[in-house]
Amino acid sequence: MVDVQDLTGRIAVVTGASRGIGEASARALDAAGARVVLIGRSVGDLDRVASGMQNQPIVLPADLSARGAGTTTAQAVLDLVEGVDILVNNAGIPMRRTPSQLTEDEFDEVFAINVRSLLMLTVGLSDSMIERGGGSVVNVSSVAGINGPVGRVAYAGTKGAVDAMTRALAADWGPSGIRVNSVAPGLIATAIWEESRQNVPGLIEDLQDGIALKRWGVGEDVADVVVFFASDASRYVTGETLVVDGGMARVGTSKVKLTELDD
Ligand code: NAD
Repeated sequence: MVDVQDLTGRIAVVTGASRGIGEASARALDAAGARVVLIGRSVGDLDRVASGMQNQPIVLPADLSARGAGTTTAQAVLDLVEGVDILVNNAGIPMRRTPSQLTEDEFDEVFAINVRSLLMLTVGLSDSMIERGGGSVVNVSSVAGINGPVGRVAYAGTKGAVDAMTRALAADWGPSGIRVNSVAPGLIATAIWEESRQNVPGLIEDLQDGIALKRWGVGEDVADVVVFFASDASRYVTGETLVVDGGMARVGTSKVKLTELDD
């Protein structure tokens, strides 16, 4: 039987691979057989992740915040490998600001990393994928782009943009064999939540209560879905967003038992 999740011989690029969801995705792609190019800002962390991987991983330090960074990083990737089959656009920053707190500089900052560089890196690697007969782009968006979170208007805007670009690129590149999908995580206990989880009393339990599966996610919960989209298991899926949130954004968790109400 053919293993449709086997990625042996494929070359994958993962941004933000130094920790969290990116680290877990890089490890999962490597475990599935892919050779992974790890992109991030901290060489020490990227080296640590690479040292646990088996298929000759490549570490490529890059900061994706500046104008032009997506394009130059794509070129740097193509200088290192003969081509790319899989791109996981995971690097991103949060922006917790109410509408009145948010400055224009903060708006530009979060859109530069979460949207502009993501698109420019993807465009920069697309010809290589087409030359190799197609490929798979997996964008990491967020339930924040779907469910209207409080106090995160700019961040939500970036993630909604990622999902919209996912569908548009799927249309542009479908005829060339490139599939483009996104994964929208919910509450994943990574470094971006560490301080709040430690310092805000009751936060872990309160938020958990709104999740149907009654637990926060971990990076591996998202990484396994990334591998699904990267692999031939999803060969007839493109332009989709898959919510990975244990049942939160689109699943009712109200404590009111409708069965006990009079109709
Ligand atoms: P994280 O902060 O642990 O990891 C983010 C990664 O992106 C890091 O490797 C970081 O170095 C990299 N990065 C940030 N800015 C960069 C820049 N300028 N240049 C290059 N790399 C940069 O966060 P995470 O929780 O693993 O988040 C990963 C992705 O998942 C992000 O896009 C985030 O928005 C999204 N997400 C996370 C959650 C969650 O609850 N953790 C929920 C929904 C979506």
